[in-house]
Amino acid sequence: IDTRLTRYLDLMQRVGQFYIQQLKQSLAKNKAVGYVKYRGISSQIAKRFELGFAPPNSNLLFGFKQDSQDIADLKVMGLLCDDQYRSGKYYDLFKDRIMFPIHNNKGNIIAFGGRSCNNNFKAKYFNSPETPIFSKSKELYGLYHMRKYSRSIDYILVVEGYMDVVSLHQAGISQVVATLGTVTTVEHLNILFRTTNTIIFCFDGDKAGEKAAWRALNITLPVIKAGITIKFLFLPDKEDPDTLVKKESSQAFVKRIENAQFLSKFLFSHIKTEVDFNTIEGKTLFLERVSMLLRKINYKTYQHQLLEGLAGEVNQSIEQIESILERQDISTQSNTF
Ligand code: ATP
Ligand code: MN
Ligand code: MN
Ligand code: MN
Repeated sequence: IDTRLTRYLDLMQRVGQFYIQQLKQSLAKNKAVGYVKYRGISSQIAKRFELGFAPPNSNLLFGFKQDSQDIADLKVMGLLCDDQYRSGKYYDLFKDRIMFPIHNNKGNIIAFGGRSCNNNFKAKYFNSPETPIFSKSKELYGLYHMRKYSRSIDYILVVEGYMDVVSLHQAGISQVVATLGTVTTVEHLNILFRTTNTIIFCFDGDKAGEKAAWRALNITLPVIKAGITIKFLFLPDKEDPDTLVKKESSQAFVKRIENAQFLSKFLFSHIKTEVDFNTIEGKTLFLERVSMLLRKINYKTYQHQLLEGLAGEVNQSIEQIESILERQDISTQSNTF
């Protein structure tokens, strides 16, 4: 098994080199280089992230000289696909895309993400599939580069996209990782907690980003423990870290990081937006919903502090609130007033 995995990693390294070379030499390179420039990526940062290009006529088969072991392995890596119409023929998964290699924490390439460089109907991004060396729920884009380029890591920003990580590095902010187009998982959090005590979620300033933040809060609650701080950085409407850091200075972005919201504040204010807090009915709902969330917390000291906060919000005693929390009958179905 070990030799098989080593072979895959070696192959992915060569594929990465192939894509880099295509960005420099392929017939369609002008369009690709133009796109990288259009996105404002410096050549230094392109090099840091080993950005490449899968040309429209991309043909890994040709590039890899018909080596039968390579071909078999490229299929396992999901980079070559069987042509369902012509038996024995294959085609490349990535065509006409800017390639972002995804590294493991040792710096080996384990997968790729590809971005279309024209705004056509095709999916803007996709990743290579899950393989024996790549599991999306366990990998974070930028983790390797964060460790390599950060002098100290006192917090980690979690962003949505490849471009956000790349842009922030270019702005001198390297304490950043991205989930790979999926939700943040407990596995991700545990990996991050090995490196930092402070996680700051910073998703896009749109509906999807807001949803992602709320989902992240829910996933995080049960794993919070002593010494851990969770914060949320909300961006102005229609901005993501990439667009914003290009508009503002990096100092302004750092200010935003410093002013990120604590989890407790987000929790209360989000639930308030779901109810009419000026009515008794709304306050009741608020109380029920917050209680339901606080039950997920295993870290007792924090849970108790949040209970106090809740008591303050609804002008009740902590004892009353605690008795509500202990009730077993709190209904997930009590959403209708
Ligand atoms: P860009 O700035 O290049 O337009 P983005 O990173 O801002 O891209 P978002 O739409 O915010 O794009 O998506 C965030 C991340 O989600 C992407 O970086 C990518 O990892 C993933 N993603 C986006 N669209 C898709 C898709 N169609 N399929 C799979 N993953 C996707
Ligand atoms: Mn988005
Ligand atoms: Mn985005
Ligand atoms: Mn973007």
